[in-house]
Amino acid sequence: MKIKLFLCRTAFFLLSASLFTVSGCSKKETSTATTSSSDNSTPTFAVSEINQTLEDGYYTGSFVVPSDGVSFILSVFKDNNGSTAFYTLIDPDGTDLLNSSSTPTLSGVSSGSLGAYGYANILVPQSPSFSVKAGTWSFKAYSNDRVKLALRSGTAPTSATIVVQPYITGTTWAADDLSATLSVMSSIYSANGIILSVNSTITISDSQFAAVSGTFTDPTTSALVTQGSTAAVNLFFIEDYSGSWSGILGNAAGIPGSMGIANAWNGVLNSLSAHASGTTLDAQLLGETAAHEMGHQLGLFHTTEQSGTEFDIITDTAECPKSSWDNDSNGQMTAEECEGYGAENVMFWTAWSSTSRSAGKKQETLSSYQQQVLKYSPLAK
Ligand SMILES: [Zn+2]
Repeated sequence: MKIKLFLCRTAFFLLSASLFTVSGCSKKETSTATTSSSDNSTPTFAVSEINQTLEDGYYTGSFVVPSDGVSFILSVFKDNNGSTAFYTLIDPDGTDLLNSSSTPTLSGVSSGSLGAYGYANILVPQSPSFSVKAGTWSFKAYSNDRVKLALRSGTAPTSATIVVQPYITGTTWAADDLSATLSVMSSIYSANGIILSVNSTITISDSQFAAVSGTFTDPTTSALVTQGSTAAVNLFFIEDYSGSWSGILGNAAGIPGSMGIANAWNGVLNSLSAHASGTTLDAQLLGETAAHEMGHQLGLFHTTEQSGTEFDIITDTAECPKSSWDNDSNGQMTAEECEGYGAENVMFWTAWSSTSRSAGKKQETLSSYQQQVLKYSPLAK
């Protein structure tokens, strides 16, 4: 099991990853089932806990997707930020979505496959190549404290509305200062067929949250993000990151993060300081960053990673391979090098340079398949 930390959209930092192997899954216990559902009168989104039994060293369980199932996130939790992951996820036809030889596969790309600290998940569908087949799904998981299913059911979506809850921390900027940014973000989504319903920005005045780490297992960051709504994508506009994170534009709690459950992974961070000249916020760039991090939170990967050797699992997004476009041969793909090859996409790994932005370059497009992932999101309506 590999552990990969997701961090995103930086002008200055490398995408970092740490890898290690976890051994030993020996504790014998069975969790008890509890069910809660949204207060929506139509049962289109519900979170439930799945019973598990220990078999052959793995925690195993199953759940049923109804005939009108649209999407789900299966999540595994390990208290005190212990490492955890799924070993298999078997669909009703017997295909293991986490097996590298399956087509399609989420092996090596979802946190539920790679493993993570405290929380890992699997989103289906994470591209239009996947479908939420009706019937009984089963899984095997490594050591964990609980597994939860967030299931959306109803008619197949042709449009989507997603509720967004912004928060602001620190004292340099106030909720009103985000109006232009939130307009930019909403316009980006609207132009790509997704309606955002943006709630009023909530001010979090506790000074400990003015500058926080971008690590979601950090206790302060965890305490902040856990305040997020269970009915929205939560955007935390922090005054700044702390420590070595300073200068990062934003990062999400996962690809996807958590949805519908109050926890440390239920939101994204956007740094206000990293988008400011003096005290003036760059609403266009901050709106693009918020749109980008929200895309991660809902399950979208970078179209092209920094190295130009890794690309998303979506087949209709432009790719910018290092072998073709690393004009300065420095092993890092800039937006300028990738113009026409994905640099215009909301989910390109980094922003345009300030010179390009001054010249009007933007990142506002999502491909048809990226839009489809968002429309099928468990959190969309
Ligand atoms: Zn990113």
